[in-house]
Amino acid sequence: MTTLPPLPTTPDATFAAYASSNLVNAALANTQHTLDVRNPATGQVLGTAPASTAEDTALAVDAAQAAQAAWAAVPARDRGKRVSAAARALAEHAELIAQVLARETGKAIRTECRGEVAVASDIMDFYGNLGSEIKGQTIPYNPRMLTMTTREPLGVVAAIVPWNVPLVLFALKVGPALVAGNTVVVKASEEAPFATFLMADILMRHLPAGVLNVINGTGAECGDALTRNPDIAKITFTGSEAVGETIYKIGASRIIPVSLELGGKSPMIICEDADLDKAVAGAISGMRFTRQGQSCTAASRIYVHESLRSAFMAQLEQALNALVIGNPLDESTDVGTIINARQMATIQRYIALAEGTEGATVKRYGTLPKSADLSPALFIQPTILMDLPDNHPCVMEEIFGPVAVVHSWTDYEEVIAAANSTHYGLAASVWTRSLSTALDSTARLNAGYVQVNQNLTIQPNVSYGGFGRSGLGKEASLEAMLEHITRSKTIVMNFD
Ligand code: NAD
Repeated sequence: MTTLPPLPTTPDATFAAYASSNLVNAALANTQHTLDVRNPATGQVLGTAPASTAEDTALAVDAAQAAQAAWAAVPARDRGKRVSAAARALAEHAELIAQVLARETGKAIRTECRGEVAVASDIMDFYGNLGSEIKGQTIPYNPRMLTMTTREPLGVVAAIVPWNVPLVLFALKVGPALVAGNTVVVKASEEAPFATFLMADILMRHLPAGVLNVINGTGAECGDALTRNPDIAKITFTGSEAVGETIYKIGASRIIPVSLELGGKSPMIICEDADLDKAVAGAISGMRFTRQGQSCTAASRIYVHESLRSAFMAQLEQALNALVIGNPLDESTDVGTIINARQMATIQRYIALAEGTEGATVKRYGTLPKSADLSPALFIQPTILMDLPDNHPCVMEEIFGPVAVVHSWTDYEEVIAAANSTHYGLAASVWTRSLSTALDSTARLNAGYVQVNQNLTIQPNVSYGGFGRSGLGKEASLEAMLEHITRSKTIVMNFD
């Protein structure tokens, strides 16, 4: 039974509803400390959110632990049905969730936020339908024995999400974990917790108490306490490389499984025979310019064949100039803001580094908004960097802003080597009409998600995850659920 008050119906009511309360055991759990959450487009404080201590965090883990055995005992298909029903309930509140998300992240409501809510709900529903697929195998070990594997839940899962696509990343972690019989404690991003809380609040009304719990706080206090809690059986984390490394060490010290979805510097190779219109559209969508480039998958290194360079740049510049930068809540806006001043300073530092590099070209596109209702601090124009040395920090490191590097190439072997030259390996794309080039390049590119002639975002039924320092493990798909959020038990029965 829930003791949750009625769901909020406006953005302001949402900020007030979770001003100092986590969502634990299907109830509001008051926290003593709070932190401010700002609207990056105006600079104004939207409200406070919980700043959970280690004690607040432990309460949520205890609730999840207490609920786990009973949830695991629910037949898998029934668990799935409940998750699907919960996902369907999101639809009724989709616009409110999107409005909250736009206010706290600075992402445009039309180009980003509504779509994110729809994708998150689709992912939850996709997993809800997979309850009956949590199967093991029978093994022909000995005809007089029954040898089989079963898939069991792991226990309490700690799911830590960042601010850039918090709802989709929530769904990719929570959907499979719940359907597989785990209970979950989600740590929201302190930069943008409210849409995550609202979504969880809607979902948990369709689930037994304690099965899904959501807490907020800083990484250093709440996140750290969560990952170190001895009742956590699995950590699934999406965020920065540095924090991923810390969390991996904590997981290692307790010998528990850890999934990491970290950064990227994804190459996009445009070959001489590419369809130019498609490639330009793919560069705009792949670089996630409408998310201000704040995407781990961003196609931030564009290698265009020399013969297409000037035509590609002309079309790209035209498309970038047409993007409307403005208030995230305006229906006409394509591009919103950067999340916070720290991220903005990082982006500007990289741009300044390129500007200070001899021979480099830095071009900015579109017009910054001038409205008195907006704070100009976190708006930035889409930016293209050209003529940089191959090993320049802007080429090798994740910027996490609307800044793409464009290089031209003539030698296929060299461009493959350049594409593989960073320590990341999240995604890559190749643009060609040749099947043999597609087959050869996709085999040789060092990335976990390689596409040809498209730059699609994550799809629920397609495994997604990086190589190298982009991370460990996969998300999305049935296989990701079976491999990363269940454990396999081998049973050998001998009645001979
Ligand atoms: P971040 O690592 O700073 O924070 C991510 C989450 O981890 C937040 O909830 C934060 O509070 C928490 N956290 C921070 N320190 C912690 C600690 N010591 N222990 C436990 N939790 C801690 O990342 P961010 O700035 O919020 O997000 C941007 C980063 O996320 C980028 O590097 C981006 O590439 C990455 N990202 C990766 C993917 C992917 O699927 N590979 C998707 C989105 C974002």
